[in-house]
Amino acid sequence: MERAFDDNTAPWLIGAPPDEPAPALARDLEVDVAIIGGGFTGVSTAYHLSRRFPGRGIALLEARRLANGASGRNGGLMLNGITVKDLDPDLMAREHALTCGAIDALAALIAEHRLAVRFRRTGCVHLSTTQRSAEEAHERVEQLRARGLPLRFLRGPELEGVLRARGAHGAVFDPTEGVINGVDLIRAMRPLLVAQGVQIFEATPVTRVRNGNVAELVTPHATVRARAIVLATSGYTPRLGFFRTGLLPVISHVIATDPLPRELLDRLGLGAIAGFFDDLPRLAYCSTDDDGRLIFGGGTTAAYGYRYGNATAYAASPDDAGTRALRGTLASYLPELADVPIRHRWSGPLDLTLARHCAIGVTGAHRNIYYAVGYSGHGIVLANLAGRVLTDLYAGDHDAWRDYAFYMKSPSGIPSEPLRWLGYQLYTRLTGRSPWKRPA
Ligand SMILES: Cc1cc2nc3c(=O)[nH]c(=O)nc-3n(C[C@H](O)[C@H](O)[C@H](O)COP(=O)(O)OP(=O)(O)OC[C@H]3O[C@@H](n4cnc5c(N)ncnc54)[C@H](O)[C@@H]3O)c2cc1C
Repeated sequence: MERAFDDNTAPWLIGAPPDEPAPALARDLEVDVAIIGGGFTGVSTAYHLSRRFPGRGIALLEARRLANGASGRNGGLMLNGITVKDLDPDLMAREHALTCGAIDALAALIAEHRLAVRFRRTGCVHLSTTQRSAEEAHERVEQLRARGLPLRFLRGPELEGVLRARGAHGAVFDPTEGVINGVDLIRAMRPLLVAQGVQIFEATPVTRVRNGNVAELVTPHATVRARAIVLATSGYTPRLGFFRTGLLPVISHVIATDPLPRELLDRLGLGAIAGFFDDLPRLAYCSTDDDGRLIFGGGTTAAYGYRYGNATAYAASPDDAGTRALRGTLASYLPELADVPIRHRWSGPLDLTLARHCAIGVTGAHRNIYYAVGYSGHGIVLANLAGRVLTDLYAGDHDAWRDYAFYMKSPSGIPSEPLRWLGYQLYTRLTGRSPWKRPA
């Protein structure tokens, strides 16, 4: 029997330290940099900018509460790599080094400031769902191991010993990946930002941006004049009027259980790893939080959605198609959990690009609009790295980043409405809309 659902919030909030929201912006303000969006991108940018430029006026404007967006409602997996589409082993090794270093940096930040953040770096399993993809994954692991990466290819009893998921023909285990509670991280960063002089305003949606040498950000009660602005708004960015042909806000639906018995998690292998994800186009992902709740998202077309006009709000219900699809996919991988009560059901917007590649740069006639967007569902590590990249770009130090494909990338190629909505429907139907269909 299903239990009642909480409203559309993720269980990452449970046990998070109490957090007093900042007041809304009530009077006009003039700053050097105004950051729009209080997720990982906005918070990490505020942190690095204020640390490097202590005297500058920096404001962080968040429409609702810090961590309201994808950063507070994700699957929690800290993953390496920049996009699942990169296959060149040299490039993959370079990108692995960058993102693994970013996870190291996050761990160091947490340790340096003794932040109360629940995270475990116990490795993730990347499942191959067909024989062919398993062979390809195996070959890639050998190439990457030859380049020094600590990956392991698992199959048969070895895989069973790590994760008892049905339907996998093989898997890659990356021990450097992990799981993090994004709400904890963002809440723990708040006092650091304040101590470094960042002015935070919550319940302050930017409704309009007027570009200029000094940009003007219109909010409900006041206007912010800023010499530079940062778009840290991921899937919400097209609604703000930027990257309308570059970003598709796709809503990802997620479910979570109550804390599961430790003995059950250990039997399934989930007690010792951070989580797993698969290689299907409608990627399924699974993690556990520190209390043993199982968090599961994606997996079928019905577990994702695009709403006309880039809308990002979604009211989840216990018996909607997304919930049923998620349940079915979860049971196909972990049949023992087929009847486990689902306690939480929520959704959040991904900022998909056609290339599935994020973009970090500076744009605008006055070269004062900084952006980091397009993480395409792979942004926990990258959005935390983005603060460092954007701070370097703001400082004029571009050299460290020029060779990465995200540098100054400007995502495009997604048509406007109504073609955008029609295209999504057509694409998802053509590329398979078969809930719960899994390889044997
Ligand atoms: C369901 C789900 C599961 C995911 N799972 C994973 C995962 O397991 N691993 C992984 O690596 N990535 C995952 N991701 C992606 C990852 O969470 C995001 O890429 C990352 O959190 C993006 O951070 P951000 O700060 O750029 O954006 P967000 O966290 O979305 O923050 C943007 C903020 O901007 C605010 N905002 C929007 N418009 C305005 C405005 N006009 N004025 C002021 N503020 C505004 C929003 O309220 C929001 O708080 C997942 C995403 C979702 C939705």
